[in-house]
Amino acid sequence: MEIVHYPHPALRWKSKPILEIGSELRSTVAKMFELMYEAKGIGLAANQVALPWRFFIINVTGEANPEEEFVFINPEIKSRKGSVEGEEGCLSLPETFGQVRRAEEIVVEAFDLKGHGFEMELEELPGRVVQHETDHLDGVIFPDRMTEMALKEIEADLADFEDVFRRKQKRGEIPSDDDLKKTLRDLELSM
Ligand code: ZN
Repeated sequence: MEIVHYPHPALRWKSKPILEIGSELRSTVAKMFELMYEAKGIGLAANQVALPWRFFIINVTGEANPEEEFVFINPEIKSRKGSVEGEEGCLSLPETFGQVRRAEEIVVEAFDLKGHGFEMELEELPGRVVQHETDHLDGVIFPDRMTEMALKEIEADLADFEDVFRRKQKRGEIPSDDDLKKTLRDLELSM
């Protein structure tokens, strides 16, 4: 398992709801936390490790500590209030940052790893991270939410990521988009 970078097609995939919470999912989540900490992130969606399933993990402290770890399975943002701009980054676009406008306060519903439903009212950093990660599950990345003017500042970064990715595909280090999409579809069917 590894964190995939833009423009990997998994980042544009609309995730399928999780039907069963079992040992396989628990071990996937544990691996994802390891990867997230290694990469110094505070949130990681399944798409970002090329899995087409609807869940993400967060720990806004960024430091390994089970008490700060949250798994959101089949999350749904039930309500949004207010609007606030803030800087975001993404482990699938390393070293790239941009201003993104998000709801100031959200109510989110999800299931945890024990299969228990929960509801959280979130604002500030946790609210932003949950909105960013929920977007991933819908195939949306933070540049999609930036103003055209702000986007201009990171256009060159995005083009670089695109170049690197396509060159790796040409060298056979990364499968073609069609093959990557086929793998995602096969994973969906294996659920
Ligand atoms: Zn992200």
